[in-house]
Amino acid sequence: MSNLQQRIEKIEYDIQDVCTRIGRERSEITVVAVTKEVSAARASAMIDAGFDHLGENRPEVLLDKQETIQSGATWHFIGNVQSRKVKDIIHQIDYLHSVDRMSLAKEIQKRADHVIDCFVQVNVSGEESKSGVTPAELNSFIEQVAAYDKVRVVGLMTMAPFTEDMELIRSVFRSLRELRDGIAAKELSHAPCTQLSMGMSNDFIIAIEEGATHVRIGTALVGAESGEDA
Ligand SMILES: *Cc1c(COP(=O)(O)O)cnc(C)c1O
Repeated sequence: MSNLQQRIEKIEYDIQDVCTRIGRERSEITVVAVTKEVSAARASAMIDAGFDHLGENRPEVLLDKQETIQSGATWHFIGNVQSRKVKDIIHQIDYLHSVDRMSLAKEIQKRADHVIDCFVQVNVSGEESKSGVTPAELNSFIEQVAAYDKVRVVGLMTMAPFTEDMELIRSVFRSLRELRDGIAAKELSHAPCTQLSMGMSNDFIIAIEEGATHVRIGTALVGAESGEDA
């Protein structure tokens, strides 16, 4: 069995295991295979293996991959987007996980010819190095984004702090879920906000325990391009 197949089986096993343990359905969870570090060939192999939700974080790399991979994937943009790059990607993606400022929403409004499904990125941990709306600003951000009808807030996204402290990571995920629940309860037409994009290779199990609907898994699933990792 190839390393890729082994990783796929391990991830599937772990996700099924946590779902069984906490009483969630496997079908509630979308695995976004983060292919940002690997070739289009590897990304194609992921699609063939049934992981057809792919995540990229650089406009150029996304567009390059899409030239090779003609069809069959749902594309998630998970990285910081400079406003001047919005026009290049906005019609190439299915989900934007990283709406982190009002000026980006405004640019989407200007460039998009249809409603774009977006996650608002929240800087729950408060680390200065992280982008995202602060929890304190979130409610007013969601209210203001109603002015831009090309932006539909389908959910919230966060990045866990860079730490070994799993309980701290859990508390961040739990906070995001509580923020999501608060917005979803308002039943806003522009912000149904039912989804939670959180959890990466090291913490996706905790994220699923805390309610993630989208886990973004790179290295643990897709691997790295170099060496014996194929
Ligand atoms: C790279 C990246 C991931 C995947 O990270 P891994 O640790 O390789 O699983 C997930 N989300 C975002 C926003 C990323 O940039």
